[in-house]
Amino acid sequence: MTEVADIKTVANELAFAARLFGDVAAIGPDKAGVSRPAFSEVETETLNYLKSVCEAHGLVAEFDAGRNLVMSLPEDAGAGGFVLIGSHADSVPMGGNFDGLAGVIAGLMCLLRAQASGLRFARPVKVIAMRGEESAWFGPCYIASKALMGALGDTELAALHKGDQRPLSDHMESVGIDMAPVRAGTPLMDARRILEYIELHIEQGPLLIGKNLPAAVVSSIRGNLRYRKIRCIGEAGHSGAVPRAFRRDPVLAMADLLSRLDEAWQSIVQEGGDLVLTTGVVHTDPEKNALSRIPDHVDFSLDIRSRSQETLDGMNDLLSRELADIEKRRRVRFVLDEVNTTAPALMDDRVITGLKRAMARTGLEPMVMASGGGHDAAVFANAGVPTAMVFVRNRNGSHNPDEAMEIDDFLAGTSIIYSYLLNGPTHDG
Ligand SMILES: [Zn+2]
Repeated sequence: MTEVADIKTVANELAFAARLFGDVAAIGPDKAGVSRPAFSEVETETLNYLKSVCEAHGLVAEFDAGRNLVMSLPEDAGAGGFVLIGSHADSVPMGGNFDGLAGVIAGLMCLLRAQASGLRFARPVKVIAMRGEESAWFGPCYIASKALMGALGDTELAALHKGDQRPLSDHMESVGIDMAPVRAGTPLMDARRILEYIELHIEQGPLLIGKNLPAAVVSSIRGNLRYRKIRCIGEAGHSGAVPRAFRRDPVLAMADLLSRLDEAWQSIVQEGGDLVLTTGVVHTDPEKNALSRIPDHVDFSLDIRSRSQETLDGMNDLLSRELADIEKRRRVRFVLDEVNTTAPALMDDRVITGLKRAMARTGLEPMVMASGGGHDAAVFANAGVPTAMVFVRNRNGSHNPDEAMEIDDFLAGTSIIYSYLLNGPTHDG
């Protein structure tokens, strides 16, 4: 355990926040960047560290039924209804330190500021550091927030860990979660008690850098439709000896599929629709593949995202039609694993307006933008909780060790939320 930083012994918040980020980075270092796997001991140690920071500063910190860490001022610990501020503590493998963690530390900084200044929030506030949000470890994303809202399905619970191949439910159980209510779809947190959910996150695209703004309020989050693995099965053969008419080449079939989807993407965007599409994993069998061999199969992933549910549904239908057509024409077979879906989410107008007012109060130009990446906020929004997000400028994207958020920008984003919490959503000042 790293020595706990003390806000009273540092000259300013900037050094204090930097110290918290540094301490957490030191818990889960990897060959490059940090690795804080979902539902792992590193994740637990991260939450324990944050708990110790809370306790050293007179805040209350407790683990909830999903073994997420919930932090508050002592007087808000027993509140019936509360504004929930938070994000996730896990990272992708060899990821950056700020994706997720920034939102957790922003919430914690709001509590510490209130505690140090003696000011009180307009409504009770709880800050949550959630576990597994990243899909990189098991396939499904938003795992902790879905469990909180009673929305984690059997398929997701059976998803296998990319490393040890044990199911998600085992990993959740091993960090101390009672899985009976999770399996039954019983919410671990009563959504009616959450007055609002607000999440600060680093921006994962280049917009704020381009506009030279430190932060923005988020208006909507893209939903997604994902296949972790699609296998195209053809027939192996000699690359020189098998003529075209005799081939059943799975790689060409995959390429055919992707170029058809790419064409659909282009026309959807030309018509003003919203869509992005990525195949980030492609491989033939590493034990058998060779320069001179037609592979017998190829495995690939497919990640389709849109702000429109209709567009996502349309793409899934198109996918089925194209798969059937390519199977016939190229004499191959596609085998799809379970689809993972997340609905697009709209942020709440009242909270957006309140956060824009808070931006103006803190001297920032009010700016609203859409989120391309997915976040736990989507789960709360789709459970009916009024939800909004604040993005903080960040260089080099995210999910890589080079993500670079300036602590100044982080504190600017934190100040928006802090001012909002002090004044409430309807304050005009
Ligand atoms: Zn994230």
